[in-house]
Amino acid sequence: MTVQIDSANTATKVWTRETAKGEKRDAWTAIKRGFSGRCPKCGEGKLFRAFLKVDNSCSACGLDFSPHRADDLPAYLVIVIVGHIVVPLALMIETNYSPPVAFQLAIYLPITLLLSLLLLQPIKGAVVGFQWAFRMHGFDENFTDDHI
Ligand SMILES: [Zn+2]
Repeated sequence: MTVQIDSANTATKVWTRETAKGEKRDAWTAIKRGFSGRCPKCGEGKLFRAFLKVDNSCSACGLDFSPHRADDLPAYLVIVIVGHIVVPLALMIETNYSPPVAFQLAIYLPITLLLSLLLLQPIKGAVVGFQWAFRMHGFDENFTDDHI
């Protein structure tokens, strides 16, 4: 007769690189949650309290959002994305149909404005989710500002 000992219950906690890292954070999940305006950690609480104003903390899990440093990156990304949609469209229409300039501006300017406004909040949320997933700035639990 053999006796099996469950070693998982008696294992002592040993410091390794993995245990020092903290919980695993999936980048794509965090980016998707941020893109849809939800907390990157739990996906439940709202990320924004106004159009572009990130809330202080998550109402569901209590994650502190204040360490985020999205700064100008969301605006830069929106310019890149919208530019890559509107400019080829303008070139294609001008090359093939050559309509009057006033008519073209009446199309491109509202499209540019609308796309920018629609994308700005989701992109900012995605940037905050990205920063949380990669423990950037104060999102790292081992972060200290001693060096400042
Ligand atoms: Zn949360």
